[in-house]
Amino acid sequence: MAKDEHSVVGFLEKLITNSYEQAKEELKEVQKLSAEPLQSFDTAYYSELLKKEKYDIDEEVYRAYFEQRNVVNGMFKFLNKLFGISFKQITEDLWHEKAFSYDLYVEDKLRARLYLDLEARESKRGGAWMHNFQTHCTNEDGDEQLASAFIVCNFPASSDTNASLLRHDDVVTLFHEMGHAIHHLLSNINENEVSGVNGVEWDAVEFPSQFLENFAYEPKVLKLFATHHETNEIISDEMITKLVRSKNFLSASAMLRQLEFSIFDFKLHSKIYQGDEVQNLLDSIRKKTSLIKTASYNKFQNGFAHIFAGGYAAGYYSYKWAEVLSADAFFSVVDEGIFDSTTAKKYLDIVLQGGGAKSMDTLFQELMGRKANPDNLLRLNGIFK
Ligand SMILES: [Zn+2]
Repeated sequence: MAKDEHSVVGFLEKLITNSYEQAKEELKEVQKLSAEPLQSFDTAYYSELLKKEKYDIDEEVYRAYFEQRNVVNGMFKFLNKLFGISFKQITEDLWHEKAFSYDLYVEDKLRARLYLDLEARESKRGGAWMHNFQTHCTNEDGDEQLASAFIVCNFPASSDTNASLLRHDDVVTLFHEMGHAIHHLLSNINENEVSGVNGVEWDAVEFPSQFLENFAYEPKVLKLFATHHETNEIISDEMITKLVRSKNFLSASAMLRQLEFSIFDFKLHSKIYQGDEVQNLLDSIRKKTSLIKTASYNKFQNGFAHIFAGGYAAGYYSYKWAEVLSADAFFSVVDEGIFDSTTAKKYLDIVLQGGGAKSMDTLFQELMGRKANPDNLLRLNGIFK
């Protein structure tokens, strides 16, 4: 989606400038816990102390509010209120008794099928992912093929006596994968290769997933389903505020670190660097991103696999790039009042139904009537310039 080198480097450098002052304040807060001036190898330890002291949340207390079936049904309810789409569970034999399938309707028209296989079990691959199985398209006779997709997770297994209680991180993961799934399932494009998640630019493909996961921190959304599984008490505003504070703990410092990785990866691919030039490049970037001098024995660059592996070469910036799109569209919806949002309906029509048939640059312009505003990523992270 990014057009040239300049737009990527300029984008990243602007985020550095806007995060730097707050990162300095964050470091001061960490420094207070140590009598000695902090060295690079101290920060992880003292940050952890600070987190425990001021920003920590007790996952076990939260779990009781995130019973798996409640969360899934609540997420469907949220999607219904946001986009007017509905999921109806269907009865069919699947590969495991803990897997479920749903038909997806838009205004009573059947559009797709979703499979959920959310619980950990022996021999199941770890992690969480969305897999696009069939893609919306038409053949040469004009026959329509509907889309289908899987969301696979490894949440705690439920039993007759024990509920599957999720961490809030798990809820975020489920929303994230659901963002990918509806991007694939709601496509109305007829060409297989550019329908759903097919053909979407690398630096834009995480836009719909990150867009949806942001809602997992919104009080209006959480209160739809985050009820205590034994007492039915609804999660309090105070608990939600703590979640957000914990998410944004040292966020400007974390932002600088990710920007350091992104610029290093990107610049490393802009010419052939030889010998010491690699270290010199990294040192020159760290002058802008690192508040404490990195120890000379630190050879981070020798183990940073993203510079060539996993399809990321010169692509690490794509995380931040997509985060800007998602934060920007997200706040548009939130500021309109979430469930009264016209942007949400446009997002469904333009982004979710549009697949990869047009550049995301074009779709975003159609959605927002302007280019993405990076300030909203700062706002999402609680960074104020
Ligand atoms: Zn993703």
